Amino acid sequence: MYELKDKIIIEEIKNKKARRILIQLPEGLKKEANKIVKYIEENTEAKTFISGESCWGGCDLSLEEAKFLNVDLIIHFGHAPFFKPNFPVVYVESRYNTDITKLVESSLKNLGSYNKVGLVASVQHIHQLEKIKEILEKNNKEAIIPDKKGRAFYKGHILGCEYTGSKLIQEKVDCFLVLGNKFHSLGLALSVDKKVILIDPINEEIHDLDFEKKKVTLKRLELIEKARNAHTFGIIVSMKSGQQNFSVAENIKKKLEEDEKEAFILTMNNITNDQLVNFYNIDLFVNTSCPRISIEDTYQFDKPIINYTELLIALDELKFDQEKNSIIIAPYGVE
Ligand code: SF4
Repeated sequence: MYELKDKIIIEEIKNKKARRILIQLPEGLKKEANKIVKYIEENTEAKTFISGESCWGGCDLSLEEAKFLNVDLIIHFGHAPFFKPNFPVVYVESRYNTDITKLVESSLKNLGSYNKVGLVASVQHIHQLEKIKEILEKNNKEAIIPDKKGRAFYKGHILGCEYTGSKLIQEKVDCFLVLGNKFHSLGLALSVDKKVILIDPINEEIHDLDFEKKKVTLKRLELIEKARNAHTFGIIVSMKSGQQNFSVAENIKKKLEEDEKEAFILTMNNITNDQLVNFYNIDLFVNTSCPRISIEDTYQFDKPIINYTELLIALDELKFDQEKNSIIIAPYGVE
């Protein structure tokens, strides 16, 4: 059901006269790696390497590996562009093609009396938004697709860390309908003050995100409280190409020191409990990289880990009530 645009890949390689290529695939598409390499090598003169590193988003370009391998092109599968790299990259987004009519019609029960619906999707499903809009309109609902804002690459496009377009229309809608998965819809639920309903075309399911939002928010508040009482902080700066936030890290280190706390800046690529566990003397970690690591993986860490905006609440620089639409998933990115 995934469409990977193989002819376009070959044309791009030939147009760019690429001789050495690095392939990057998200986890769900790594099983296609050998087929892709064979296809490229049968149809072009290029030598092809596969990056075995994790690849969670368009933020995660393997620029260092590309330099090490002396490649002249990265082909990055599964995500839309996130930032402008100073290296040639071809993005091959995948599209999930399936008939969603029945699922959308079933979601009308969940929408109930909500008549104005904000419509958004993750990149795999973005091509289906107009079709959903049509179905909703036939059923006397008004559908609004938000403009492309921030790091979104398309109108109505959401990422795990980008909901600006949705926030800007939230006063005009009664609820949001997301075409995607739990990850994207939870991010939206944590970022807006409206009900969020997920249509998941892959698992053919519909979910209301209210319960999950409440559970995650309570956990975040508990961690913010821990940050108020912590003394020694580790501020994490990611080395991933699109997740570097060094000036934010320096800024919060300064704020913590002014508050008579100790703070150290730690650099790393992958942020896991194994990476952090030996920093025995650190009470709490502040993550300035992908904000979803602190949220999705929170129970995997022995020590508390929060996002930098949550630290600002602990330091009384942001108020939870006033900022509840943006504290957890905050805008951030490449410097
Ligand atoms: S920073 Fe995290 S949520 Fe944002 S695009 Fe990258 S992996 Fe996804």
